[in-house]
Amino acid sequence: MEPTDMRCVVVIVFGFCCSFGKTHENKPIQTFIIPHSHMDVGWVYTIQESMHAYAANVYNSVTEELSKLKDRKFIAVEQEFFRLWWDAVASDNQKKQVRQLVKEGRLEFIIGGQVMHDEAVTDLDDQILQMTEGHGFLYETFGVRPRFSWHVDPFGASATTPVLFALAGFNAHLISRIDYDLKDTMQHNKKLQFVWRGSGSLKAQQEMFTHTMDQFSYCTPSHLPFSNSSGFYWNGVALFPDPPKDGVYPNMSLPVTKETVQAYAKTMVENIKQRAAWFRTNHVLWPWGCDKQFYNSSVQFSNMDPLMKYINQNSEEFGVTVQYATLSEYFQAVYRSDLVWEVRGSQDFLPYSTEPYQAWTGFYASRNVLKGVARRASSKLHAAETLFARYRISFPDGPVAKDWALDKLRSLRWAVSEVQHHDGITGTESPKVADMYLQHLTQAMMGVEELLAALLLLPHFLQTPGVLQRRYHRTDVQEALEQHVLIYNPLAWNITTVVNVTVTLPSAAVFDDDGQPVAAQIQTSAQSNTTYDLFMVVKLGGLQYRKYLIKFTEKPGAGKPDSYEAKRVRFERRGATDRARSGRRLVPVLNQCYELMFDRDTNLLHSVTYLPEKRRVRMTQDFWEYDANGDVKAGPISDNYVFSANGSATRAYEAAEMEIVPGKIVTEIRQYFFREESDEDYAYSITTRVPECFEATLPCHRLEQSYSLGPLRLNTEVVLRTSSSLKNDRTLYTDDNGYRMMKRTYRKFTNNTLARNYFPMVRAAYIEDELGRLVLLSDRAHGVSSQANGQLEVMLHRRLWNDLPWNLGYNLTLNDSSVVRPTLWMMLGSRNATARLHQREAIELQHRPLVMPIDQPQEPRRGKEPRETSAMLSVVLPPNLHLLSLAIPGWNYSSNHDVQLHRVHSGTDLQVEPDYDRVLLRIMHLFEEGEDQELSKPVTINLKDVLRGVGEVRALEERSLTGTWNITSLQRWKWKTADNLERKNQRCPDEDFTVTISPKEIRTFFVHFSSGNF
Ligand SMILES: [Zn+2]
Repeated sequence: MEPTDMRCVVVIVFGFCCSFGKTHENKPIQTFIIPHSHMDVGWVYTIQESMHAYAANVYNSVTEELSKLKDRKFIAVEQEFFRLWWDAVASDNQKKQVRQLVKEGRLEFIIGGQVMHDEAVTDLDDQILQMTEGHGFLYETFGVRPRFSWHVDPFGASATTPVLFALAGFNAHLISRIDYDLKDTMQHNKKLQFVWRGSGSLKAQQEMFTHTMDQFSYCTPSHLPFSNSSGFYWNGVALFPDPPKDGVYPNMSLPVTKETVQAYAKTMVENIKQRAAWFRTNHVLWPWGCDKQFYNSSVQFSNMDPLMKYINQNSEEFGVTVQYATLSEYFQAVYRSDLVWEVRGSQDFLPYSTEPYQAWTGFYASRNVLKGVARRASSKLHAAETLFARYRISFPDGPVAKDWALDKLRSLRWAVSEVQHHDGITGTESPKVADMYLQHLTQAMMGVEELLAALLLLPHFLQTPGVLQRRYHRTDVQEALEQHVLIYNPLAWNITTVVNVTVTLPSAAVFDDDGQPVAAQIQTSAQSNTTYDLFMVVKLGGLQYRKYLIKFTEKPGAGKPDSYEAKRVRFERRGATDRARSGRRLVPVLNQCYELMFDRDTNLLHSVTYLPEKRRVRMTQDFWEYDANGDVKAGPISDNYVFSANGSATRAYEAAEMEIVPGKIVTEIRQYFFREESDEDYAYSITTRVPECFEATLPCHRLEQSYSLGPLRLNTEVVLRTSSSLKNDRTLYTDDNGYRMMKRTYRKFTNNTLARNYFPMVRAAYIEDELGRLVLLSDRAHGVSSQANGQLEVMLHRRLWNDLPWNLGYNLTLNDSSVVRPTLWMMLGSRNATARLHQREAIELQHRPLVMPIDQPQEPRRGKEPRETSAMLSVVLPPNLHLLSLAIPGWNYSSNHDVQLHRVHSGTDLQVEPDYDRVLLRIMHLFEEGEDQELSKPVTINLKDVLRGVGEVRALEERSLTGTWNITSLQRWKWKTADNLERKNQRCPDEDFTVTISPKEIRTFFVHFSSGNF
């Protein structure tokens, strides 16, 4: 049903059902049986294994069974499985049947993302990407736009999710996994449904009706007194690796027969009535399904059909009616009840505990390597998307084949989307599935590197035929005594920053594309004796790249005066227990922002003074370990999901060493931590880079730290603990998906207080007192907590094993022996000063300049080469606006909904050609209302002017977040609340391309450029 039609229905129903709420006690409970299969895109089995064992059969058999009988329905959730089936398995006839079922509204796509994304450790960029990917496919293929969510399995619920769903045009959201004690209370008080205003700045504008599943969650009750314990699962449980040849699966429920129907009906009705008591309306959502169900839909429906018929025949006696339904039908019924709903503010539901010792806060730090690769892949994708969009607009007939390029981008979009699954980036999967995600990501990244090379090399060779024959080889910067590198800034801001290139010769000088010397510094790497770090200061415009030339000399000291060879100073090893003399012999490291003091008697950080305000904060940083229990008989265990500390953390080292490498661009402090005093190899390290304010252009506030940890000893969970004199009273702030900051007040619980005070940190965390704030920014997700006044600890790595049969059976013990090297940026300053910076800094960390070593150009230079930058104008947004997306999605659907519907319903199965000319643009306001006097203001920009560097804007259409709705036709349901706040009308940009973006808004546009500008 079309949404506009739906609205009409709603209005009509209001007319005659206003007394509905009063009389429903006498009416039978209306039960919506929603057939579904929860299909994890990963977890224990790989995607290929899952397709083979059950997932393909879900869509084969559901298509067949729904086509047989008109009242049967099904909701399809994870698009990745559906698309794999659609592209590689479905026959023409099945496709025809699916189109019909979708048209009739009996097969309904819910959420519509590639996966059901995790909500705690995913970044909003990637949440948007994976939804855009799924929605693009659905709209192009079926003309449908999902309007409801089904977040039944993510481990806790973020306040960002309802905001993004609202921006995508959703009418209602559904969650399930929230704290057990909170759910009990909400259930008891009939408060499982509410209107959620997930953004403090957007408030009612992007509010979202939210349904929390009751205690039975998304599976049907499994304890039937008269059958085996498989509940209403007549098709049993899925079998791996192969489905059984005879179709007989393990644990199939007793068939519904004359003998059993009464017992089934009684159990089902009792369950329905129990649940009805927890909700305010007379409707019960009865999810029928669970993980990996409906691979044999025939046996499912052929048992449920007569059971439902029996209940409806006796509905008066039972007080219940039952019907197959899609999720939208349930929500429409609730919406029509016209009740006034309670409002929930912007608080999220993180962290999540299932019972007293089951705090699901371990996964914030599980599989650090996968979390890191996933984020790197995402930023590489962003860089490639922006470059390809610029290239297409500038050179529509350029030699980089557009279909080849889009193919590379699509592979990486797919891989980055896939890993956002709630058993993907969470690190809660089996080792082979983690390997699968890594392989998909690295393969797709390699493809995109080929694309980047082709695009970046192009302007040089535009006049040179045969550029595509030139294979790109990534060479380590070595042997050749000259090396060219291209450095690209994927952000729409001008930046001056330090880029680090790893090289194998000890002396080098750097020149820009005008042949001018570039400030550089070279030194032996902290991590290796055989490589060198070459730091160079680069200045790049927004979305611009430049070429640099590195000239090596084998003899140290022979570099140009602009490149400085830094030498290290070593400090002798100090025992951790001998602290008596600490604080007497301090070594200062200074730049214009900070004075850092390091203690020669401990080799630890001692204090940091924030110079503009002359505030000195005592501060140490070191590593601590939590001991995990591996024996289930001995007490609660930690695993992929759960963190259950065996007491407080203990110091993870007995001795520390320090080196300082003073430099002209960065001064590096290297601290090495040894488990035992006599150990030769260090267990942990911190490398801190203090930027020297080179020619006063480098930002001095950014202290970069990279760490090395691992392999860990078994059953240890390691934290980097920063202890300071800030009086934060154990309150900290952490981000929800990089979108907004959440205040986390320390809470005491009867049990498990330590683990329940852990929170996810996707991009940022900080602690503060009246005078100052300590901010940490992250290049991947971690767990974070403030366990003592002034403390901020980040869980960086975990290695675990336990003897729980369930964990062992599924290989989910997290015996992760890898070495991890995460990076954090640290800032200290007044609250005002850091508030102005931290969001932009977090984005700069995520999207650091892309460095591409390239082969030396083969042909002789023809005079002075034109500077690439002159061919590539910069694109610069105001400091509080972020260019979230500039991409060519390639989906070819009409911007006009009627035209699109006509196209998909015309009966001809079109082979759709990608649309290479429609550019997707997203701009986000980074600030909350009132956060900063200046930067929190709404910003008005003229997109034609802003995008002039990209090309001549011809037309602009404002769209919903995932692109599928024209913003003016997007009418979301307005659920009643006591305050009934008005929403402002969605409007299109002015004729002159002027757009005003308010705090925390994300605005999405299709931009059409005049082609052939150059
Ligand atoms: Zn799941």
